[in-house]
Parts: sequence; C-alpha cells; structure tokens
Amino acid sequence: MENIVCRFSYDIDPLPKIYDGRVILIGDAAHAKSSTRARGMTSGWEDGLCLAQHLRDSANIAEALENFQAERLPIVHEYQRTSREMSLKIGRR
Ligand SMILES: Cc1cc2nc3c(=O)[nH]c(=O)nc-3n(C[C@H](O)[C@H](O)[C@H](O)COP(=O)(O)OP(=O)(O)OC[C@H]3O[C@@H](n4cnc5c(N)ncnc54)[C@H](O)[C@@H]3O)c2cc1C
Repeated sequence: MENIVCRFSYDIDPLPKIYDGRVILIGDAAHAKSSTRARGMTSGWEDGLCLAQHLRDSANIAEALENFQAERLPIVHEYQRTSREMSLKIGRR
C-alpha cells in the first residue's frame, strides 16, 4: 500500500486550434477527456496515423497540418463532448 500513485485526470474543453506554425498537438495534449467513454489512447493513435498520412500526401507541412486539423478536430471534439456528457450523467468528471 506504500506504492500507491495518485494523479489528476484532466477533461479539457475542446480547443479551437491545435497547431501554430510548425508545432502541433496530438493525443491527450490536444484533447484530454474523462475516461468514461474510453478512446483516450486510441484517439491518440488515430491522430498519429492521420498526421502521417497528411504529411505523406500534402504539398508542404503547412498544408498537412491544416488538413490534419480539419479532419481530426470535429472527430475529437465529438469524443470530448460525448465523454463529458456521459460523465455528467453518472456524476463523474
Ligand atoms: C487509469 C486510466 C485508464 C485508461 N484507460 C484507457 C482505455 O481503456 N482505453 C483508452 O483508449 N485509453 C485509456 N486511457 C487514456 C490513455 O492512457 C491516454 O489517453 C493516452 O495514454 C494518451 O497518450 P498520449 O501519448 O497523448 O499522452 P501520455 O500517455 O500522457 O504521454 C505523454 C508523455 O509525455 C511525457 N512528458 C510530459 N511532460 C514532459 C516533458 N516536459 N518532457 C518530456 N516528456 C514529458 C510524459 O511522461 C508521458 O510519458 C486511460 C487513462 C488512465 C489514466
């Protein structure tokens, strides 16, 4: 019982933008949510795969990041919205 580790669980509001210049956020840094609906790790993997595809298929990095954001933000915002909704329903956040 001496080795119990306690950490905060974050449920952030959806971000309107997840890149600036050549810096982009993916995974929990971009869309941390309560664990009620799960999909935390899998959505991070989806981000990585999607970003790799846009970096491969776009003419330059700026276009790749813009296309990545346009594709992923609606999806992760929906994960965040439904996760929070479920958490509030069961009295957990
Ligand atoms: C108890 C629990 C259960 C979960 N269960 C599930 C589940 O069943 N299914 C699911 O899909 N998801 C689950 N998740 C969520 C999932 O673990 C996270 O969404 C996922 O790990 C996020 O991955 P990430 O790479 O974005 O961030 P992280 O895994 O947090 O990785 C960030 C890394 O950056 C490092 N770091 C931080 N600051 C610095 C710094 N300044 N310099 C260098 N390194 C730094 C950290 O040490 C860490 O290794 C669970 C989470 C928890 C806490």
